[in-house]
Amino acid sequence: MKLIDTHCHLTDSRYNDNLDIVLKNIREKLDFVINVGYDLKTSENSVKLSNEYEYIYATVGVHPNDSDSYNILVEEKLEELVKNNNKIVAIGEIGLDYYRDYVSKEIQQDVFIKQLKLAKKLDKPVVIHCRDAYKDTIDILNEYKDVNGIMHSYSGSYDTAKLLMDRFYFSISGPVTFSNAINLHDMVEKLPIDKILVETDSPYLTPVPYRGKTNEPSYVEYVAQKIASIKNIEYDEFKKILSKNTKKAFRIE
Ligand SMILES: [Zn+2]
Repeated sequence: MKLIDTHCHLTDSRYNDNLDIVLKNIREKLDFVINVGYDLKTSENSVKLSNEYEYIYATVGVHPNDSDSYNILVEEKLEELVKNNNKIVAIGEIGLDYYRDYVSKEIQQDVFIKQLKLAKKLDKPVVIHCRDAYKDTIDILNEYKDVNGIMHSYSGSYDTAKLLMDRFYFSISGPVTFSNAINLHDMVEKLPIDKILVETDSPYLTPVPYRGKTNEPSYVEYVAQKIASIKNIEYDEFKKILSKNTKKAFRIE
């Protein structure tokens, strides 16, 4: 059973020189990856990649840090992409990021809500980016109870996760491999195994033993191995569960 990286950014310029090697590693080691857009251009490029390579699926959406680029024309283009490409599996990444103040909270919330409505209209799950904004994210998601999806690179508390458990999966990334990530280990230990996904968020968040280098999707194995050891479950068994969870979360097959 092969792993799936549920969140990567292969359109990042850090792969300009070695994308062929990164893709070869995906082909050899993984089942498939989900390549995530964060503005109109990267969403279009993500769709292009997914049409070129069988083992790449795409998401389209505008990240909270880029939400001042969102307007009705962008929304129409995102909608058109979803309607014309069957490998787009979600709207994302969307959400709130109060850690960075590139865009005001008001604009972030407005653009988040508009894209939740878009996901509802197009009947797609959402990939949520949330940083230092759990309260507002949950308050907004509670207004759209029929939208479900994935909390990406989740590192919040178990109590926060419980509030979204009925309709969200929790995708865990590289920091879980850090020995000092005690709170994250504790949360993962409590999280129900049928709600867990794994991702790299590459080129960011590189896991141990490659910490400090550029991340790539094939390194998702270190994330999965660490979680299997925290949950005290056999690795092969865990990979099967992850595959099942991922296909359910993104409605693949
Ligand atoms: Zn991302």
